[in-house]
Amino acid sequence: MGKLRLLGAQEKFRFSCERCDLCCGTGPNVSVTIFDAVRMAKKVGVGVEEFIRTYLKVILADMIPVMTLQGDMKGRCVFLGFDHEGKTYCKIYEARPMKCRLYPLKIVKLSGNLLALDEECPGVGKGEETQPPWEEIENYRKEIKRHYEILMRLIIHEGKDPLDALREALILAKDELEKH
Ligand code: SF4
Ligand code: SF4
Repeated sequence: MGKLRLLGAQEKFRFSCERCDLCCGTGPNVSVTIFDAVRMAKKVGVGVEEFIRTYLKVILADMIPVMTLQGDMKGRCVFLGFDHEGKTYCKIYEARPMKCRLYPLKIVKLSGNLLALDEECPGVGKGEETQPPWEEIENYRKEIKRHYEILMRLIIHEGKDPLDALREALILAKDELEKH
């Protein structure tokens, strides 16, 4: 998906989710941080390494591991469910990745108040006018920065194997989440 419009500073937008299958049903394109992975594994009730083997794809991009949600046979997110009326829902809603929480908003910078709104989402333009959820956006930015800080330190500065570094980073993320 991606008909992005930049939102001006302080600009409000209308959004009410229609529970269609567009965003979660169009391919395994959601990247997840080490913090997302720890929360999701806990929700599913398995260890984080088993969670990654079963539900995520890990690719190496210039030695940096990138994790994304897997798709099912139809290319839909593995956690997408349908109720008896055919409406979609997320099977791990409370622990869904930060990227999913913010959609149809997308972060375009790690600071400042510039955001993008995906106008391809059919829920955009519907419902009450609302402000972007800045607290959640800030939390996501902090987690993205921390995710890369940890991986960069382990892989670039300490010279660790990328997949060993990912394992170590997940343990650190779990500890950091438990402290907060
Ligand atoms: S966020 Fe938008 S694309 Fe996703 S289910 Fe809701 S209405 Fe559909
Ligand atoms: S984790 Fe949930 S919200 Fe995110 S893409 Fe999958 S089904 Fe959708």
